[in-house]
Amino acid sequence: FLSGGSRSIVNCCTDSWLHCQHTFELSRVRPLNDKEHKSNDHMVVQFPGSGQILCDGIPGGPSGGQKPKLFGYNVVFEPGASQDDVLQYSGIKRIIEMAIEGFSCTAFCYGQTGSGKTHTLTGPPDLFYGRKPDPSDSRHGLVFRAFLYLFQLLQERKDTNFILKASFLEIYNEKVIDLLNSGSARKPLAVRWSKKSRGFFVENLFTVDCEELDDLLAVLEEGMRNRSVGSHRMNDYSSRSHTILSVHITSEQQAENGVFISKQGKINFVDLAGSEMTKKTNSEGKTLEEANNINKSLMVLGYCIASLSDSKKRNGHIPYRDSKLTKLLADSLAGNGVTLMIACVSPAKSNISETLNTLRYAARAKKIRTKPIIVMDPREALILSLKREIKSLQLENDHL
Ligand code: ADP
Ligand code: MG
Repeated sequence: FLSGGSRSIVNCCTDSWLHCQHTFELSRVRPLNDKEHKSNDHMVVQFPGSGQILCDGIPGGPSGGQKPKLFGYNVVFEPGASQDDVLQYSGIKRIIEMAIEGFSCTAFCYGQTGSGKTHTLTGPPDLFYGRKPDPSDSRHGLVFRAFLYLFQLLQERKDTNFILKASFLEIYNEKVIDLLNSGSARKPLAVRWSKKSRGFFVENLFTVDCEELDDLLAVLEEGMRNRSVGSHRMNDYSSRSHTILSVHITSEQQAENGVFISKQGKINFVDLAGSEMTKKTNSEGKTLEEANNINKSLMVLGYCIASLSDSKKRNGHIPYRDSKLTKLLADSLAGNGVTLMIACVSPAKSNISETLNTLRYAARAKKIRTKPIIVMDPREALILSLKREIKSLQLENDHL
Protein backbone atom coordinates (compact mmCIF):
# COMPACT_ATOMS: atom_id res chain seq x y z
CA PHE A 1 0.00 0.00 0.00
CA LEU A 2 2.80 2.39 -0.71
CA SER A 3 2.45 5.06 -3.29
CA GLY A 4 3.83 8.50 -4.01
CA GLY A 5 7.52 7.75 -3.57
CA SER A 6 9.01 6.90 -0.22
CA ARG A 7 6.09 8.12 1.87
CA SER A 8 2.85 6.23 2.25
CA ILE A 9 -0.13 8.39 1.30
CA VAL A 10 -2.65 5.58 1.28
CA ASN A 11 -2.72 3.31 4.29
CA CYS A 12 -5.03 0.53 5.35
CA CYS A 13 -5.75 -1.68 8.35
CA THR A 14 -5.26 -5.15 6.84
CA ASP A 15 -4.86 -6.40 3.33
CA SER A 16 -7.67 -8.90 3.66
CA TRP A 17 -10.55 -6.51 4.20
CA LEU A 18 -11.56 -6.63 0.56
CA HIS A 19 -12.56 -10.24 0.97
CA CYS A 20 -14.92 -9.83 3.89
CA GLN A 21 -18.26 -8.78 2.54
CA HIS A 22 -20.01 -5.98 4.39
CA THR A 23 -19.57 -2.25 4.72
CA PHE A 24 -16.23 -0.69 3.95
CA GLU A 25 -15.34 2.62 5.53
CA LEU A 26 -12.69 4.84 4.12
CA SER A 27 -11.61 8.34 4.83
CA ARG A 28 -10.10 10.87 2.47
CA VAL A 29 -8.47 13.98 3.86
CA ARG A 30 -8.12 16.81 1.36
CA PRO A 31 -5.10 19.15 1.33
CA LEU A 32 -5.31 22.57 2.98
CA ASN A 33 -6.71 24.98 0.39
CA ASP A 34 -5.40 28.43 -0.58
CA LYS A 35 -7.75 30.24 1.76
CA GLU A 36 -6.66 28.10 4.68
CA HIS A 37 -2.99 28.60 3.80
CA LYS A 38 -3.45 32.37 3.55
CA SER A 39 -5.22 32.62 6.90
CA ASN A 40 -2.47 30.57 8.59
CA ASP A 41 -4.94 27.83 9.38
CA HIS A 42 -3.15 24.56 10.12
CA MET A 43 -3.58 20.78 9.98
CA VAL A 44 -5.23 19.14 12.99
CA VAL A 45 -5.12 15.58 11.65
CA GLN A 46 -2.21 13.17 11.67
CA PHE A 47 -1.71 9.77 10.07
CA PRO A 48 -0.20 7.16 12.37
CA GLY A 49 -0.65 4.52 9.60
CA SER A 50 -2.63 1.24 9.51
CA GLY A 51 -5.85 2.98 8.51
CA GLN A 52 -5.86 5.38 11.44
CA ILE A 53 -6.49 9.09 11.74
CA LEU A 54 -5.54 11.03 14.84
CA CYS A 55 -7.51 14.26 15.16
CA ASP A 56 -6.86 16.96 17.76
CA GLY A 57 -9.59 17.46 20.34
CA ILE A 58 -11.76 20.57 20.33
CA PRO A 59 -9.75 23.36 21.98
CA GLY A 60 -11.01 25.56 24.81
CA GLY A 61 -13.09 24.93 27.91
CA PRO A 62 -11.99 25.00 31.54
CA SER A 63 -9.77 21.92 31.16
CA GLY A 64 -7.90 23.49 28.23
CA GLY A 65 -9.51 21.39 25.50
CA GLN A 66 -10.38 17.79 24.75
CA LYS A 67 -7.91 14.98 24.18
CA PRO A 68 -6.94 13.98 20.63
CA LYS A 69 -9.14 11.23 19.18
CA LEU A 70 -8.03 8.19 17.22
CA PHE A 71 -10.30 6.73 14.50
CA GLY A 72 -9.82 3.53 12.51
CA TYR A 73 -10.90 2.82 8.91
CA ASN A 74 -10.30 0.21 6.28
CA VAL A 75 -8.32 2.67 4.24
CA VAL A 76 -7.14 6.25 4.75
CA PHE A 77 -6.28 8.54 1.85
CA GLU A 78 -3.92 11.26 2.96
CA PRO A 79 -3.92 14.71 1.33
CA GLY A 80 -1.32 13.66 -1.26
CA ALA A 81 -3.37 10.71 -2.57
CA SER A 82 -4.35 10.94 -6.23
CA GLN A 83 -7.68 10.17 -7.93
CA ASP A 84 -6.06 7.01 -9.31
CA ASP A 85 -5.03 5.96 -5.78
CA VAL A 86 -8.72 6.14 -4.83
CA LEU A 87 -9.61 3.81 -7.73
CA GLN A 88 -6.81 1.38 -6.89
CA TYR A 89 -7.17 1.19 -3.12
CA SER A 90 -10.78 2.06 -2.26
CA GLY A 91 -12.11 -1.41 -3.01
CA ILE A 92 -14.34 -0.01 -5.77
CA LYS A 93 -12.91 -2.51 -8.26
CA ARG A 94 -14.07 -5.36 -6.04
CA ILE A 95 -17.46 -3.70 -5.71
CA ILE A 96 -17.86 -3.45 -9.47
CA GLU A 97 -16.97 -7.12 -9.77
CA MET A 98 -19.68 -7.86 -7.20
CA ALA A 99 -22.26 -5.71 -9.04
CA ILE A 100 -21.54 -7.77 -12.18
CA GLU A 101 -22.11 -10.91 -10.09
CA GLY A 102 -25.61 -9.69 -9.14
CA PHE A 103 -25.11 -7.79 -5.89
CA SER A 104 -26.59 -4.39 -5.03
CA CYS A 105 -23.71 -2.08 -4.25
CA THR A 106 -23.44 1.51 -3.13
CA ALA A 107 -20.49 3.88 -2.90
CA PHE A 108 -21.21 7.10 -1.07
CA CYS A 109 -19.31 10.17 -0.04
CA TYR A 110 -20.20 11.80 3.26
CA GLY A 111 -18.80 15.01 4.73
CA GLN A 112 -19.22 18.74 5.19
CA THR A 113 -19.51 21.07 2.21
CA GLY A 114 -16.08 21.71 0.71
CA SER A 115 -14.55 18.50 2.08
CA GLY A 116 -14.08 16.86 -1.34
CA LYS A 117 -17.16 14.66 -1.94
CA THR A 118 -17.78 15.80 -5.49
CA HIS A 119 -14.03 15.95 -6.15
CA THR A 120 -13.72 12.30 -5.09
CA LEU A 121 -16.73 11.03 -7.04
CA THR A 122 -16.63 13.06 -10.24
CA GLY A 123 -13.74 15.51 -10.16
CA PRO A 124 -14.22 19.15 -11.11
CA PRO A 125 -17.54 19.64 -12.97
CA ASP A 126 -15.86 21.54 -15.84
CA LEU A 127 -14.27 18.26 -16.99
CA PHE A 128 -17.58 17.57 -18.69
CA TYR A 129 -18.66 20.97 -19.98
CA GLY A 130 -19.29 20.97 -23.69
CA ARG A 131 -16.64 18.47 -24.69
CA LYS A 132 -15.91 14.80 -24.73
CA PRO A 133 -14.04 13.96 -21.55
CA ASP A 134 -10.40 13.06 -22.04
CA PRO A 135 -9.90 9.64 -20.37
CA SER A 136 -6.28 10.40 -19.55
CA ASP A 137 -7.13 13.51 -17.51
CA SER A 138 -5.77 12.86 -14.01
CA ARG A 139 -8.57 14.92 -12.42
CA HIS A 140 -11.29 12.38 -13.23
CA GLY A 141 -13.06 11.04 -10.17
CA LEU A 142 -14.08 7.61 -9.03
CA VAL A 143 -17.23 7.31 -11.18
CA PHE A 144 -15.45 7.84 -14.51
CA ARG A 145 -12.65 5.49 -13.51
CA ALA A 146 -15.14 2.88 -12.29
CA PHE A 147 -16.97 3.04 -15.63
CA LEU A 148 -13.72 2.38 -17.52
CA TYR A 149 -13.00 -0.59 -15.28
CA LEU A 150 -16.56 -1.92 -15.62
CA PHE A 151 -16.35 -1.92 -19.42
CA GLN A 152 -12.93 -3.50 -19.35
CA LEU A 153 -14.40 -6.38 -17.30
CA LEU A 154 -17.50 -6.74 -19.47
CA GLN A 155 -15.38 -7.03 -22.59
CA GLU A 156 -13.38 -9.84 -21.03
CA ARG A 157 -16.53 -11.82 -20.21
CA LYS A 158 -17.29 -13.19 -23.68
CA ASP A 159 -19.49 -16.00 -22.34
CA THR A 160 -22.05 -13.65 -20.83
CA ASN A 161 -24.55 -11.26 -22.31
CA PHE A 162 -24.84 -7.96 -20.40
CA ILE A 163 -27.56 -5.33 -20.47
CA LEU A 164 -26.72 -2.01 -18.82
CA LYS A 165 -29.13 0.74 -17.89
CA ALA A 166 -28.34 3.94 -16.07
CA SER A 167 -30.29 6.62 -14.22
CA PHE A 168 -29.26 9.81 -12.44
CA LEU A 169 -31.44 11.57 -9.89
CA GLU A 170 -31.30 14.25 -7.27
CA ILE A 171 -33.09 14.47 -3.92
CA TYR A 172 -33.70 18.04 -2.88
CA ASN A 173 -36.00 18.95 -0.02
CA GLU A 174 -37.32 15.33 -0.05
CA LYS A 175 -38.30 15.70 -3.71
CA VAL A 176 -36.87 13.33 -6.29
CA ILE A 177 -35.82 15.10 -9.51
CA ASP A 178 -34.71 13.29 -12.66
CA LEU A 179 -31.34 14.66 -13.78
CA LEU A 180 -31.63 12.99 -17.18
CA ASN A 181 -35.03 14.32 -18.13
CA SER A 182 -34.64 18.08 -18.09
CA GLY A 183 -37.71 18.29 -20.33
CA SER A 184 -39.92 17.45 -17.36
CA ALA A 185 -39.10 20.90 -15.88
CA ARG A 186 -37.79 19.36 -12.69
CA LYS A 187 -41.15 17.85 -11.82
CA PRO A 188 -40.80 15.71 -8.65
CA LEU A 189 -41.23 11.97 -9.12
CA ALA A 190 -42.87 9.51 -6.74
CA VAL A 191 -41.00 6.76 -4.89
CA ARG A 192 -43.04 3.55 -4.83
CA TRP A 193 -42.75 0.00 -3.54
CA SER A 194 -42.60 -2.79 -6.07
CA LYS A 195 -44.22 -6.03 -4.94
CA LYS A 196 -42.55 -7.88 -7.78
CA SER A 197 -38.97 -6.92 -7.02
CA ARG A 198 -39.64 -6.28 -3.31
CA GLY A 199 -37.86 -2.97 -3.40
CA PHE A 200 -38.46 0.77 -3.77
CA PHE A 201 -38.24 2.46 -7.14
CA VAL A 202 -38.77 5.89 -8.66
CA GLU A 203 -41.81 6.02 -10.87
CA ASN A 204 -41.23 7.32 -14.42
CA LEU A 205 -37.51 7.77 -13.88
CA PHE A 206 -35.62 8.00 -17.15
CA THR A 207 -33.37 4.99 -17.60
CA VAL A 208 -30.92 5.00 -20.46
CA ASP A 209 -29.77 1.83 -22.22
CA CYS A 210 -25.99 1.91 -22.25
CA GLU A 211 -24.46 -0.38 -24.84
CA GLU A 212 -21.14 1.36 -24.90
CA LEU A 213 -18.88 3.18 -22.50
CA ASP A 214 -19.71 6.45 -24.27
CA ASP A 215 -23.40 5.99 -23.39
CA LEU A 216 -22.55 5.76 -19.67
CA LEU A 217 -20.26 8.77 -19.95
CA ALA A 218 -23.06 10.72 -21.64
CA VAL A 219 -25.32 9.93 -18.67
CA LEU A 220 -22.68 11.23 -16.27
CA GLU A 221 -22.16 14.37 -18.32
CA GLU A 222 -25.86 15.12 -18.78
CA GLY A 223 -26.62 14.63 -15.09
CA MET A 224 -23.71 16.81 -14.01
CA ARG A 225 -24.89 19.57 -16.35
CA ASN A 226 -28.48 19.41 -15.14
CA ARG A 227 -27.37 19.39 -11.53
CA SER A 228 -25.42 22.57 -12.06
CA VAL A 229 -28.53 24.23 -13.56
CA GLY A 230 -30.20 23.75 -10.19
CA SER A 231 -27.22 25.04 -8.32
CA HIS A 232 -27.19 28.32 -10.23
CA ARG A 233 -30.73 29.01 -9.18
CA MET A 234 -30.00 28.91 -5.52
CA ASN A 235 -27.12 29.50 -3.17
CA ASP A 236 -25.74 26.40 -1.49
CA TYR A 237 -28.08 24.25 -3.60
CA SER A 238 -25.49 21.54 -4.14
CA SER A 239 -24.80 21.45 -0.39
CA ARG A 240 -28.43 20.62 0.22
CA SER A 241 -29.02 18.03 -2.46
CA HIS A 242 -28.11 14.36 -2.72
CA THR A 243 -27.45 12.77 -6.11
CA ILE A 244 -27.68 9.09 -6.97
CA LEU A 245 -26.20 7.78 -10.20
CA SER A 246 -27.25 4.15 -10.65
CA VAL A 247 -26.04 1.55 -13.11
CA HIS A 248 -28.19 -1.58 -13.38
CA ILE A 249 -26.35 -4.59 -14.73
CA THR A 250 -28.33 -7.58 -15.99
CA SER A 251 -26.26 -10.57 -16.98
CA GLU A 252 -27.44 -13.62 -18.89
CA GLN A 253 -25.32 -16.68 -19.04
CA GLN A 254 -26.10 -20.11 -20.39
CA ALA A 255 -25.44 -22.85 -17.85
CA GLU A 256 -24.14 -26.30 -18.84
CA ASN A 257 -27.67 -27.74 -18.96
CA GLY A 258 -28.69 -25.07 -21.46
CA VAL A 259 -30.77 -23.04 -19.00
CA PHE A 260 -30.16 -19.29 -19.05
CA ILE A 261 -29.23 -17.80 -15.69
CA SER A 262 -29.99 -14.14 -15.30
CA LYS A 263 -28.72 -11.92 -12.48
CA GLN A 264 -29.47 -8.31 -11.68
CA GLY A 265 -26.75 -6.32 -10.01
CA LYS A 266 -26.57 -2.63 -9.37
CA ILE A 267 -24.14 0.04 -8.37
CA ASN A 268 -25.16 3.40 -6.91
CA PHE A 269 -22.79 6.34 -6.66
CA VAL A 270 -24.13 8.75 -4.06
CA ASP A 271 -22.94 12.32 -3.53
CA LEU A 272 -24.58 13.29 -0.25
CA ALA A 273 -25.67 16.73 0.93
CA GLY A 274 -23.20 18.54 3.19
CA SER A 275 -23.21 16.90 6.61
CA GLU A 276 -23.32 20.32 8.32
CA MET A 277 -26.89 20.55 7.01
CA THR A 278 -28.26 18.30 9.73
CA LYS A 279 -27.55 21.12 12.15
CA LYS A 280 -28.72 23.87 9.83
CA THR A 281 -32.02 22.02 9.65
CA ASN A 282 -32.67 23.20 13.17
CA SER A 283 -31.48 26.74 12.56
CA GLU A 284 -33.65 29.80 12.37
CA GLY A 285 -35.02 31.42 9.26
CA LYS A 286 -36.13 28.24 7.51
CA THR A 287 -39.73 27.47 6.78
CA LEU A 288 -41.04 24.50 8.69
CA GLU A 289 -41.32 22.40 5.55
CA GLU A 290 -37.75 23.17 4.58
CA ALA A 291 -36.48 22.50 8.06
CA ASN A 292 -38.25 19.16 8.15
CA ASN A 293 -37.20 18.17 4.69
CA ILE A 294 -33.76 19.53 3.88
CA ASN A 295 -31.92 16.87 5.54
CA LYS A 296 -34.41 14.41 6.66
CA SER A 297 -32.65 12.01 4.30
CA LEU A 298 -29.27 12.64 5.87
CA MET A 299 -30.63 12.29 9.39
CA VAL A 300 -32.53 9.10 8.60
CA LEU A 301 -29.42 7.67 6.91
CA GLY A 302 -27.63 8.32 10.22
CA TYR A 303 -30.39 6.53 12.16
CA CYS A 304 -30.28 3.57 9.76
CA ILE A 305 -26.50 3.29 10.07
CA ALA A 306 -26.77 3.58 13.87
CA SER A 307 -29.44 0.85 14.00
CA LEU A 308 -27.57 -1.42 11.60
CA SER A 309 -24.32 -1.03 13.51
CA ASP A 310 -25.91 -1.87 16.86
CA SER A 311 -26.17 -5.65 17.03
CA LYS A 312 -29.08 -5.45 19.49
CA LYS A 313 -31.14 -3.23 17.22
CA ARG A 314 -30.10 -4.83 13.95
CA ASN A 315 -32.84 -7.41 13.88
CA GLY A 316 -35.42 -4.86 14.91
CA HIS A 317 -36.81 -1.88 13.08
CA ILE A 318 -34.52 -0.01 10.71
CA PRO A 319 -36.22 3.22 9.59
CA TYR A 320 -35.55 2.95 5.82
CA ARG A 321 -39.06 4.09 5.01
CA ASP A 322 -38.60 7.43 6.74
CA SER A 323 -36.73 9.19 3.92
CA LYS A 324 -36.42 9.09 0.14
CA LEU A 325 -32.69 8.48 0.23
CA THR A 326 -32.85 5.50 2.58
CA LYS A 327 -35.78 3.97 0.68
CA LEU A 328 -33.72 4.06 -2.49
CA LEU A 329 -30.58 2.70 -0.82
CA ALA A 330 -32.39 0.19 1.39
CA ASP A 331 -31.49 -2.86 -0.69
CA SER A 332 -27.76 -2.30 -0.48
CA LEU A 333 -27.75 -0.99 3.10
CA ALA A 334 -30.12 -3.67 4.34
CA GLY A 335 -27.86 -6.53 3.66
CA ASN A 336 -28.42 -7.56 0.08
CA GLY A 337 -25.34 -5.76 -0.92
CA VAL A 338 -22.09 -4.06 -0.23
CA THR A 339 -21.59 -0.47 0.83
CA LEU A 340 -18.50 1.65 0.47
CA MET A 341 -18.55 4.79 2.53
CA ILE A 342 -15.96 7.48 1.99
CA ALA A 343 -15.81 10.04 4.79
CA CYS A 344 -14.38 13.20 3.28
CA VAL A 345 -12.80 15.65 5.69
CA SER A 346 -10.90 18.91 5.79
CA PRO A 347 -7.62 18.83 7.71
CA ALA A 348 -7.94 22.47 8.88
CA LYS A 349 -8.28 23.67 12.43
CA SER A 350 -11.16 25.95 11.39
CA ASN A 351 -13.23 22.85 10.48
CA ILE A 352 -12.30 20.71 13.46
CA SER A 353 -15.76 20.12 14.89
CA GLU A 354 -17.27 19.08 11.51
CA THR A 355 -14.22 16.88 10.87
CA LEU A 356 -14.69 15.13 14.23
CA ASN A 357 -18.41 14.64 13.49
CA THR A 358 -17.68 13.09 10.10
CA LEU A 359 -14.94 10.83 11.44
CA ARG A 360 -17.26 9.65 14.21
CA TYR A 361 -20.17 9.02 11.81
CA ALA A 362 -18.02 6.89 9.52
CA ALA A 363 -16.47 4.96 12.38
CA ARG A 364 -20.01 4.02 13.46
CA ALA A 365 -20.74 2.60 10.01
CA LYS A 366 -17.74 0.33 10.51
CA LYS A 367 -19.74 -1.86 12.85
CA ILE A 368 -22.37 -2.77 10.24
CA ARG A 369 -22.20 -6.43 9.36
CA THR A 370 -24.39 -7.69 6.57
CA LYS A 371 -24.45 -10.70 4.34
CA PRO A 372 -24.81 -9.83 0.68
CA ILE A 373 -27.10 -11.87 -1.57
CA ILE A 374 -27.25 -12.22 -5.33
CA VAL A 375 -30.40 -10.92 -6.97
CA MET A 376 -31.69 -13.49 -9.44
CA ASP A 377 -34.58 -13.49 -11.80
CA PRO A 378 -37.57 -14.91 -9.80
CA ARG A 379 -37.98 -17.66 -12.42
CA GLU A 380 -34.41 -18.82 -11.97
CA ALA A 381 -34.73 -18.62 -8.22
CA LEU A 382 -37.84 -20.82 -8.48
CA ILE A 383 -36.09 -23.29 -10.79
CA LEU A 384 -33.19 -23.46 -8.36
CA SER A 385 -35.43 -24.04 -5.36
CA LEU A 386 -37.45 -26.71 -7.27
CA LYS A 387 -34.20 -28.42 -8.24
CA ARG A 388 -33.18 -28.45 -4.58
CA GLU A 389 -36.56 -29.91 -3.67
CA ILE A 390 -36.23 -32.64 -6.34
CA LYS A 391 -32.81 -33.48 -5.00
CA SER A 392 -34.04 -33.73 -1.42
CA LEU A 393 -37.03 -35.88 -2.55
CA GLN A 394 -34.62 -38.14 -4.43
CA LEU A 395 -32.53 -38.46 -1.29
CA GLU A 396 -35.63 -39.23 0.73
CA ASN A 397 -36.62 -41.80 -1.87
CA ASP A 398 -33.18 -43.46 -1.73
CA HIS A 399 -33.62 -43.90 1.99
CA LEU A 400 -37.02 -45.56 1.74
P1 ADP B 1 -17.90 18.99 -1.60
O1 ADP B 1 -18.48 18.30 -2.80
O2 ADP B 1 -17.67 18.07 -0.47
O3 ADP B 1 -18.69 20.19 -1.20
P2 ADP B 1 -15.75 19.62 -3.41
O4 ADP B 1 -15.50 18.28 -3.93
O5 ADP B 1 -16.52 20.53 -4.28
O6 ADP B 1 -16.45 19.54 -1.98
O7 ADP B 1 -14.34 20.25 -3.01
C1 ADP B 1 -14.18 21.61 -2.63
C2 ADP B 1 -12.90 22.14 -3.28
O8 ADP B 1 -11.75 21.46 -2.78
C3 ADP B 1 -12.89 21.94 -4.77
O9 ADP B 1 -12.32 23.07 -5.37
C4 ADP B 1 -12.00 20.74 -4.98
O10 ADP B 1 -11.36 20.76 -6.23
C5 ADP B 1 -11.02 20.84 -3.83
N1 ADP B 1 -10.61 19.50 -3.37
C6 ADP B 1 -11.36 18.65 -2.68
N2 ADP B 1 -10.70 17.50 -2.39
C7 ADP B 1 -9.47 17.64 -2.94
C8 ADP B 1 -8.31 16.80 -3.01
N3 ADP B 1 -8.28 15.58 -2.43
N4 ADP B 1 -7.23 17.27 -3.66
C9 ADP B 1 -7.26 18.50 -4.23
N5 ADP B 1 -8.32 19.32 -4.20
C10 ADP B 1 -9.42 18.93 -3.57
MG1 MG C 1 -20.26 18.75 -3.82
